[in-house]
Amino acid sequence: MMAVHSDVICPFCGCLCDDIEVTVEGNEIVNTRNACAVSRSKFLNHGLNRISAPTVDGEETGYDEAVEEASRIIAGARRPLVYGLSSTECGAIAKAVELAELVGGVVDNTSSVCHGPTILALQQVGESKTTLGEVKNRADLVIFWGSNPTEAHLRHVIRYSGMPKGLYTPEGRKGRYIVAVDVRETRTARLADQFVKIEPNADLELLQALRATVRGGKISTDEVAGVPRSQIEELARRMKGAKMGIVFFGLGLTQSDGRHMNIDAAVGLVAELNHHTKFLLTPMRGHYNVAGANTVTTWQTGYPYAVDFARGYPRYNPGEYTSIDLLAKGEVDAAIIVASDPVSNFPAEVAKHLARIPVVTLDQKITPTTMLSKVVIPVATAGVEAEGTAYRMDGVPLRLKKVVEPHEGHVPDEEVLDAIIERVRALKEEA
Ligand code: SF4
Repeated sequence: MMAVHSDVICPFCGCLCDDIEVTVEGNEIVNTRNACAVSRSKFLNHGLNRISAPTVDGEETGYDEAVEEASRIIAGARRPLVYGLSSTECGAIAKAVELAELVGGVVDNTSSVCHGPTILALQQVGESKTTLGEVKNRADLVIFWGSNPTEAHLRHVIRYSGMPKGLYTPEGRKGRYIVAVDVRETRTARLADQFVKIEPNADLELLQALRATVRGGKISTDEVAGVPRSQIEELARRMKGAKMGIVFFGLGLTQSDGRHMNIDAAVGLVAELNHHTKFLLTPMRGHYNVAGANTVTTWQTGYPYAVDFARGYPRYNPGEYTSIDLLAKGEVDAAIIVASDPVSNFPAEVAKHLARIPVVTLDQKITPTTMLSKVVIPVATAGVEAEGTAYRMDGVPLRLKKVVEPHEGHVPDEEVLDAIIERVRALKEEA
C-alpha cells in the first residue's frame, strides 16, 4: 500500500524544513519531494547500517538485559556523564537531564563543541532575535559571517534567506543584497553580491572596526583584518541603509580566536546598527535539535549545557563541566551517549578516555562510538520512525512526524531512557 505524507519536518539539519513530502510503500520510504540532497539521501537510506539488536560487550542480547547492564553501569558510577542529545527530540532530552540529576552526574550536549561561545556571549549581552519567517518576509541585507549554508544548510538560502519572495521582499533574490564574510571563497561567497575576505582569526578586529565606522568613527589604517578601509566603509554604509539586515553566523566565528568575544562584538555591532535601522542576528545551528537541547536543559536546570548535579543541585561552568574538559582530565568514570558520535568528533586524546571507561550508547546506526561502547541500544529515529518536538535554529518549536514503523523491538530514545531511569532508581533504593 502506498501512502504520501505531506508537510513532514526534515530532522537532518537546523533548518527543520517543514514542507517535505515522503512517499511510503509498505513500510519503506521510496520517494521524497522538496528535500535537499542530504535530506533525500537520509530519508531513503534510513534503514542502512542499522544496529539490528542491543549488544553488551559486542554480543547480541535482549532489550531488557541491555537496559539492566546500562542501569548498573550508570548507577554504580561516581562521575557519570550524559552527552549528545542534539539529534534527538525534546522528550528524550528531558529524560536525559532527569537521569543526570538522579545519579548526580553531568549533562552536556554538543553545543559545548559548536555554539557554546555563542551562548556564553548572549548570556552576557543579550541578542536581537528573529525568526526565519521574518527574514524571508523583510530582510533586504543578508550577511553570512563564518557560515556556508550552500554546503551546510542546503535549503537555507533558497527557502529562508536569499531567494524566496516574501511579503515585503516581493523581488526575491533581486531585492536582496547578500554578503559573505569568510577566510576563503566558499560556494556561499560565490553566490553573494559581495565577498569580504578576512584574515584567519581576525573577526574581532573587523567587527569592532565596522562598529566604530557605523558610529561615525574614522579608520586610520589602510586595512583592518586584511579588508581594505574602503570596503569596510562601504559595508557600514550599506548596513545602515538596509530596511532590515540580518547576520547569520557560524562556527567560523564561534570557533576562531576570540570565540565568545567575537559574538559579543557581533551583538555590539548589531546593537549599534539598531540606532539606524532594524538589524538582527541568528546562529546557524547544525544538528537539527541542538537548539532544543539548550532550551530543554535550560527549562529544567536553568542552564543550557555543561550542567553538573554532583552536589544535588545544578551548577554550570563551561570549561569545567563540558564533556571535552571532563574527559581530558579523566574525571568521568562512565558515560551514556545519546544520538551522538563523540569518538569521531572529539580530539583523539579525549576520545581515548571513552575507550577506557564503560560507555552506553543509544543510536540507530553503527558509528565509531557504538564500536567502543560496552552497551549499545538501537533506537527508533525521531522524525522518521517516532514523533517528537524539535527547535529550529531560530528557536521555533516544530512537531516531528512518524512516517514509517521502527524496526521490531526498537523504541524511541525517550522510552529507553525512561526504562533506565526506573531501573537506576530501583538499584539505588536496593543499595
Ligand atoms: S536544508 Fe536541512 S532541514 Fe532542509 S531539507 Fe536539507 S537537511 Fe533537511
